[in-house]
Amino acid sequence: MHALLVEDDDRMAQALGTALAQRGHTVRRVGRALDALRHVHEADFVLLDMGLPDLDGLELLRRLRTVCDAPLIVVTARCEERDIVQGLRAGADDYVVKPFRMAELMARIDTVRRRTGTPSGRPGSDAAPARLGGPVRAGDVEVHLAGRTVTVAGTEVRLTRREFDVLAFLAARPEEVHSREAILDRIWGDAFLAASRSLDVHVAGIRSKTGRSGLVRTVRGFGYQLGPPTARCERGGPRDTGRGPQS
Ligand code: CA
Repeated sequence: MHALLVEDDDRMAQALGTALAQRGHTVRRVGRALDALRHVHEADFVLLDMGLPDLDGLELLRRLRTVCDAPLIVVTARCEERDIVQGLRAGADDYVVKPFRMAELMARIDTVRRRTGTPSGRPGSDAAPARLGGPVRAGDVEVHLAGRTVTVAGTEVRLTRREFDVLAFLAARPEEVHSREAILDRIWGDAFLAASRSLDVHVAGIRSKTGRSGLVRTVRGFGYQLGPPTARCERGGPRDTGRGPQS
């Protein structure tokens, strides 16, 4: 696998690069946020130091998350609980505080890659637990769990890895309402993120990309359920068929 190592400290970068290479990974090391953004597309996973010379690490993390879904582990000296929570909320898959044990970091990399369903890990991601047969249908939306594809009226819609994971989790048990904690625990690996907005952001992404605002139904104060996409969202709001003359 190809690692992007974002680390401005030469000695730390060398130690990490050697350990990664010993485990069969290829490594691109960059020391500046600008170069991280430039090269993140190549990466199968990212190790990110938060203390960089040209941009705050948290801001870089947010920007990386808007352009890249690759598993990302923060490796930093910032050890306050607030820093850790902010890092996880900003989209880090794991957070390791320096000084760390190298073997532990390597094990965490393996765990994150397995959890996020990176190729060469377990195919299909374990975010979709059940039912790997035919597609799950909700109106004209079909969710193909095994193939990890979504079609709307027969046309494929491209979701990010996490958006698909959320949708697949709901689609695997469409009759159930799923709590925020359960979804976060399953897909982010951390129910502690329950206050995070990142789940809502991903749900909003699913709705806008499919153009079916009712595909994911909000159960206020609790969580989400796969919804029939044409139902329940009409009260007070515009219909998404665009066919009814209002005059
Ligand atoms: Ca640093």
